[in-house]
Amino acid sequence: MRPFHIVTYGCQMNVHDSEGLSGLLRAEGYPPAENEEEARIVLLNTCAVRARPERKVVAKLGALATRRRAGTLDVLGICGCMAQEHGEALLGEYPQLDFVCGTGNLSAVPGLVRSALEGDRRAVLDMAGDIDRGIPRAHGSRFRAYVDVIYGCTNFCTYCIVPRVRGPERSRPMAEVLDEVRRLADAGWVEVTFLGQNVNAYGKDLGPGAPRFPDLLEAVDAVEGLHRVRFTTSHPRDCDEALLCAMAGLESVCEHLHLPVQAGDDRILRRMNRGYTYREYLDLALRAREVMPALSLTTDVIVGFPGETRAMFEQTLRLFEEVRFDSAFSFVYVPRPGTTAAAMADPTPRSEKVAWLNELARRQKEISRERNQEMVGQVVEVLVDGLSEGDPGNLAGRTRTNKLVVFPADGSVREGDFVPVRTTKAKLWGFEGVRASGDA
Ligand code: SF4
Repeated sequence: MRPFHIVTYGCQMNVHDSEGLSGLLRAEGYPPAENEEEARIVLLNTCAVRARPERKVVAKLGALATRRRAGTLDVLGICGCMAQEHGEALLGEYPQLDFVCGTGNLSAVPGLVRSALEGDRRAVLDMAGDIDRGIPRAHGSRFRAYVDVIYGCTNFCTYCIVPRVRGPERSRPMAEVLDEVRRLADAGWVEVTFLGQNVNAYGKDLGPGAPRFPDLLEAVDAVEGLHRVRFTTSHPRDCDEALLCAMAGLESVCEHLHLPVQAGDDRILRRMNRGYTYREYLDLALRAREVMPALSLTTDVIVGFPGETRAMFEQTLRLFEEVRFDSAFSFVYVPRPGTTAAAMADPTPRSEKVAWLNELARRQKEISRERNQEMVGQVVEVLVDGLSEGDPGNLAGRTRTNKLVVFPADGSVREGDFVPVRTTKAKLWGFEGVRASGDA
């Protein structure tokens, strides 16, 4: 059988979808290739949320066209958001492509590969059908696993194409999620991350009386053998007191909340259709820290949204000073074709937006370091990922708050172990530390 390779772009949901694609192809007997060059089947699992990953996919398609012409590649398919967004047109634009597979059709891929080997070129883009369930997953880790809990998004932020390419919010039944988590825990996985574009909207679409996200967290907390539960991404609009209390009270639920704010100015937030104000976001962040003093709070922010002025940007700066996020992913606004925001007047030059972004990023770096500095000397529980990529003499792992910790390797610790580590030095990304005795 021909070996396959999957190139993944974008968010954790895509990483998880690639685990499903890999599981499906393995189940059909296709072996994973050692590397992309040796693969005879290549799938691009794409992202269309930002312009940059899309440009990378276009460049990759160019490089793979050369392999098609040289006869070293038998099948080339494109999946994910970019496939859903552009659909069949991709087959016309890129003759090197054999198939286009939309976001809700993962289980069609083995059939598409078979057809491609017989010379057929096709697009499968059915958004009306349900999301694939129960597909085998080739998990990237033997102790951390992703679990889908809700698909799609119904928020319609004016800059975002996700509702168009991933469809409306659809929650998985709680029994199905719990069953998957129990099977993972029984097989030795100790950490799960619940995934969804808007994970804390879980259950809203299941009707009155259906379990909501805090109920799901409570149920999963009782699963034996599971030590850590994470989730991403949360929308501030659906983050309420019940969720904060569940996080604070449930032992396995980690003290990390990724809560994208996107902007600080109320007029910009309104234009983005985010559904909250500066004050509401700040109150929520402060309340979260009040009920969970150890909480790590992280965010996403878009700088230079259409119509944003320097004074409006300063509201974002002010919010960052008030909240003091542990870290932030910041981006300059780039219009996505077909979105409401793409048609808005945008007079601010990009160079000015980049200068704002740099200013915000500089300040956030200082805050991140300061927040980490406050934790130096503490003993933290680290789930070990393995040897540090930058320094193989060290081990690296994550705290419950999702901060990276690097500490000297010794033969007694292996990946997947929980170890107490005393933090000795604050870094931008986390800590250096040393093994500590006893419990964290
Ligand atoms: S919440 Fe807004 S930004 Fe996030 S996926 Fe939904 S529409 Fe996009």
